[in-house]
Amino acid sequence: MVTLENSVSCQTDSCQSVPVHPPPILQVRQYIGTAARLSLERNINRHTHETEDMDIAAERIERLHELARAAAADDDELARSYVRLARRVAERNRLPLPRTFRRFTCDECDAYLRPGDNARVRLQDGHVVITCECGAHARYPYD
Ligand SMILES: [Zn+2]
Repeated sequence: MVTLENSVSCQTDSCQSVPVHPPPILQVRQYIGTAARLSLERNINRHTHETEDMDIAAERIERLHELARAAAADDDELARSYVRLARRVAERNRLPLPRTFRRFTCDECDAYLRPGDNARVRLQDGHVVITCECGAHARYPYD
């Protein structure tokens, strides 16, 4: 006679001898092992995706910077829209804007600055002072 503990739930004859139910403690260990592994894999994946997202965002910022520079020559508004988009991408991804980007854009009106054209550059007390058409000044250490 077969006791309940040793019996198998499977009804087919071919697997009667296969122990279907491992001891409960083993089941728990396996379950924890699987859960831990899954969560670890998820963490790794999430990390990889974040890194990829940041690379893509950094590339987008570079590309938008190029587009802004190119557009600035004949379309101030188009250049502004690229500058704003780049700022938004940086903000959303918590990435710093490249230094050249920060220096050649106006914080007030988002214009892409072209010294001698829509921006004035002066040296003052060891600083570079860039004045935008909108009247905003930006000071940087001379380097
Ligand atoms: Zn401005």
